[in-house]
Amino acid sequence: PTLKYEEIRRKIRNDVQEMWYFINAELNKIKKNTQSHNLKNDIETMIDHFNDYKKSLAINVDKLSNIDGYAKWREKESFEISELVQKRFSYLQNPQNCSSAKKLICNINKGCGFGCQIHHLVYCFLVAYGTERTLILKSKGWRYQKEGWESVFKPLSDTCLSDSGETHANWPGDQSKQVITLPIVDNVYPKPIFQPPSVPADLAQRLQKIHGYPLVWWVGQVLKYLMRPNESTKILLENKKQKIKFNNPIVGIHIRRTDKVGTEAAFHDIDEYMLKVQQYFDSLETKPEIKRIFLASDDPKVIITAKKRYLEYEIIADTDIAQTASVSRRYSNLSLQGIIIDIHFLSLCDYLVCTFSSQVCRVAYELMQTQYLDASNRFASLDDIYYYGGQNPHPQIVILDHIPKREGEIELRINDEIEVYGNHWDGYSKGRNLRTSITGLFPSFKVKNCIKSVDFPKYQAL
Ligand code: GDP
Repeated sequence: PTLKYEEIRRKIRNDVQEMWYFINAELNKIKKNTQSHNLKNDIETMIDHFNDYKKSLAINVDKLSNIDGYAKWREKESFEISELVQKRFSYLQNPQNCSSAKKLICNINKGCGFGCQIHHLVYCFLVAYGTERTLILKSKGWRYQKEGWESVFKPLSDTCLSDSGETHANWPGDQSKQVITLPIVDNVYPKPIFQPPSVPADLAQRLQKIHGYPLVWWVGQVLKYLMRPNESTKILLENKKQKIKFNNPIVGIHIRRTDKVGTEAAFHDIDEYMLKVQQYFDSLETKPEIKRIFLASDDPKVIITAKKRYLEYEIIADTDIAQTASVSRRYSNLSLQGIIIDIHFLSLCDYLVCTFSSQVCRVAYELMQTQYLDASNRFASLDDIYYYGGQNPHPQIVILDHIPKREGEIELRINDEIEVYGNHWDGYSKGRNLRTSITGLFPSFKVKNCIKSVDFPKYQAL
């Protein structure tokens, strides 16, 4: 298929969704503000009908991708790019001669949670890949597990784990230095061009064809390499799968509570998550007999409440952990297993409902891309749009003009660059137009997310 074809197919699918967000939100606003009983009923009926139209349109656009003759090609292409990338990663990480190899050192102990540390590691790995240096991970004394990374995951290399070398420097150093140490992303100067949202230019075109959000695909591939479970974790995950009877189809819910609420994110009731779950099941052409949910949270009470309140669903969870976990234990060995289990099963779900303000859910979403050809639409976030923490700026581009119609809306002209702050999931997004410097609302479907391709090494020696 041509790139245009794939882009238009995905654009129609997104527009159907955005149109539905808009209509649903607007009608509900009118319904709320009216006293008339008849009008309320009429609106209710309209919402139902529009929902049916939306469902039919969305299902048919999805079906197109199965019958347009390109399904096999997509599968093959996706497999081949992933293989190429994974081969490059293991080539980079397994130099023939460790004592002379160029190295980049990264310490996992950034003062934050597991998801945040994993993203820190991804950033290190991308700089290593971009500068052709083997990544050496320092993880002894890790706050989650003092024995270090290898007690749960495979080592990042089979041949080279030593940080020693002839010459050392701190980032950026220069070509002559054998070993370079990279600080955390918040303090890195100059900022490496290889960190998100950059995607390797030699893969960009191919990725744009196969995926709705190449950056997430790319981060997912890095996680696939980094988070390879070691033997004991593999057994743990397999046993857990049997024990909790994890089976698809299933929707994953991640509810982040405890220390996050009121500081970095707002509180959302379980009902808000369940509404999205219900909408997902409702959007399917054939409904599964059992409406299954995998529920993960840092607050075990959430799991108990959900099971009591939603009897028509089969809710499964890693209850071993839920029963014993508590806020103070979040960094203990037990909770390291707990968070690995939760992220793993969330990433295996058919659909994710969560708050993208949480790094835990973003890691699960990134890993989910390695399970499906294109899982970029398989989520509902109750707050933020997807972003990669600490990333370089990445404006979206206007594809349709917009003349403000209501208070709070801003003007858009084709090709304007917009720094988007968030999608309100009601048809509108908020952002700042970099041409006019004005901040406000605009219809979400009038901008597009561009790929930021940057020249990375091409690993031609492979
Ligand atoms: P964020 O604070 O949600 O953006 O993500 P972080 O990963 O940086 O920190 C949150 C930490 O809380 C995690 O790393 C876990 O230790 C814990 N946590 C959050 N959600 C869950 C969950 O669903 N299950 C488990 N087991 N732990 C969680």
